[in-house]
Amino acid sequence: MKPAPFTHHRPETVEDVLELLAELEDAELLAGNQSLGIVMANRLATPDHLVDLNGVDELASIDERDDEIRIGAMTSHRTLERSDRLAELVPMLPEAAEQIAGPSVRNQGTIGGSIGEADPAGNYPAALVALEGSLHLRSLEETRTVPADEYFIAYMFTDLREEELIESVSVPTDPFPPERSGMAFLELKRAAQTWPTVSAASAIRVDDPSAAEPVVEDARIALANAADVPLRVEDAEAVLEGEPLGESGLEEVGELVTDAVHPEGEMHADREYKEEVAGEYAVRSLETSYERAIDS
Ligand SMILES: Cc1cc2nc3c(=O)[nH]c(=O)nc-3n(C[C@H](O)[C@H](O)[C@H](O)COP(=O)(O)OP(=O)(O)OC[C@H]3O[C@@H](n4cnc5c(N)ncnc54)[C@H](O)[C@@H]3O)c2cc1C
Repeated sequence: MKPAPFTHHRPETVEDVLELLAELEDAELLAGNQSLGIVMANRLATPDHLVDLNGVDELASIDERDDEIRIGAMTSHRTLERSDRLAELVPMLPEAAEQIAGPSVRNQGTIGGSIGEADPAGNYPAALVALEGSLHLRSLEETRTVPADEYFIAYMFTDLREEELIESVSVPTDPFPPERSGMAFLELKRAAQTWPTVSAASAIRVDDPSAAEPVVEDARIALANAADVPLRVEDAEAVLEGEPLGESGLEEVGELVTDAVHPEGEMHADREYKEEVAGEYAVRSLETSYERAIDS
């Protein structure tokens, strides 16, 4: 099937995008077209207008600020995957990016499109929730910042308003100084280039990587495709904080995560299986983060 007819608009500035969104009835933003194209080809979306962001150069940037990294919405998965500065400061993001689909999707797909799509299986939503990232949203009337854990409200339903653009996302860099932190984004995939069955995004900061038994000061764990929104499990994080990482703590984490998630069953993975995988992958992801913190 082909998409229903639409009018294509190609603005060159954010201001022009916002004016079009305010003015046009039934408009949809177009980023990398890796998800929207499929939805429109199947006529599950039939917008009258497409506002194409590909000519808006100011939306494709990675800016380092005092205590955060800000990533423009039109930054591609490939750019995130290959950014040396992100690999140093927020390595979870390049690791999440490099596991998305295959090269053609990664070349075209963008972080803004992924957040805009808001699939609970998406890599960045879980990563942003784990890292306490924020979304920077803009309309003609207002610019506002929403914490990632408040943005994703229900299955593919978010706090984004009709006339708003996701301008950028930001991640605070203070909580995880590279010299004593580790991060991991671990996916279970049925086959390469498909969406994950479950993913586990984690980060750990230790007190002293050279100590015999470094103590976990801050731990984060969030799961993708394990609930109708990306799910952070703070009870599990609390179990690990204040102690060196050990087997009994990890066992408790696995149980807490298995209990906390509430995934939808899928054809190849029923609900019980996904619950077990979520617990197991949370443990493995946290172990990797701890090892990386010690090696940092
Ligand atoms: C085979 C395949 C496998 C995939 N596997 C994974 C995976 O494992 N993990 C993963 O995370 N993703 C996966 N994806 C999705 C991929 O990341 C897409 O690129 C992404 O979800 C959509 O990004 P896009 O830039 O192509 O957005 P588009 O398809 O252009 O847009 C998607 C939606 O976001 C909206 N939108 C786009 N930009 C903005 C903005 N700035 N502000 C507000 N709304 C906006 C659009 O209006 C649209 O509704 C996969 C996709 C495919 C085709």
